Amino acid sequence: MHQHTVTLNNGVDLPAIGLGVFQTPPEATTAAVEEALRVGYRHIDTAAAYLNEREVGEGIRRSGLGRDEVFVETKIWINDYGRDATLHAFDKSAGKLDVEWLDLLILHQPLPSAFDRTLDAYRALEKLLADGKVRAIGVSNFLPAHLDRLLAGTSVVPAVNQIELHPYFQQPALRRVHAEHGIHTQAWSPIGGITSYRAAGRTTFDDPALLEIARAHGRSTAQVMLRWHLQQGRSAIPNSTRPDRIAENFAVFDFELTTGELAAIDALDTGVRGGPEPDSITLDAFGREIPEA
Ligand code: NDP
Repeated sequence: MHQHTVTLNNGVDLPAIGLGVFQTPPEATTAAVEEALRVGYRHIDTAAAYLNEREVGEGIRRSGLGRDEVFVETKIWINDYGRDATLHAFDKSAGKLDVEWLDLLILHQPLPSAFDRTLDAYRALEKLLADGKVRAIGVSNFLPAHLDRLLAGTSVVPAVNQIELHPYFQQPALRRVHAEHGIHTQAWSPIGGITSYRAAGRTTFDDPALLEIARAHGRSTAQVMLRWHLQQGRSAIPNSTRPDRIAENFAVFDFELTTGELAAIDALDTGVRGGPEPDSITLDAFGREIPEA
């Protein structure tokens, strides 16, 4: 199946569909990663805070693919912000993943109450980029004000901002800021998983408008949502541990939504965030030590 890639602002190609492994227990991670790579995925999104980087590395090794055939993305947790701490956090992640270099390394959250540490962490990413340890750097969960401060205080425009983005929460204003600066929008909870595991109301999976579009194409609502991201130029990192769903979420390169269908999905935005408010992230509330490799 034809694989879609997006070209980041520094020329690096990112496979547009990756496997996300948030909440994937370590004991299920290796098998999920191996299965994803077997059915054609070439991009895995993990994080130091997911505590499964070692098992991601094992899945990549078991796939038999070469290191340069898999795009490996991970995230620095807030406890490791600061120039030296972040440089060391690279060693921890690369050590657990058992890789020499990372394809994309991002700051997991802004730390608004200690933004100087956030800036120092980003400067460490700039050094890792200059040293060839990472091929691209970026951020996650940054709001426009955080991006403004980052752009004013550092030199490398982030290649990516990974943000909550699904039909019920679309962040159009933030995406306009990304477009202005050449920052790629990567969707987390891209099929609205957070509307099922966090919230009590209707989930994206059984949204009537999405079901209607899905029926018209003989596809699932998850596939329709992933297609919506691809056609609007975003990358997406759906999570599953089930082989059938891992395959389903990758079988999205052979159909096309109409302009009207894309607009109908755009109209589902509620403006209500499922994840934590980025301005509420503090070490007190969210801190956790990241173990050594
Ligand atoms: P997703 O939108 O990927 O949804 C995942 C959930 O939906 C799981 O419960 C999964 O269950 C279920 N599911 C998966 N595929 C299907 C399908 N085809 N049909 C029906 N249900 C399905 O949500 P996530 O929040 O997991 O986000 C994906 C990734 O984004 C994470 O793994 C992580 O990499 C990243 N992320 C980043 C964050 C950040 O702060 N930067 C925050 C949250 C996520 P099952 O396993 O049973 O299939």
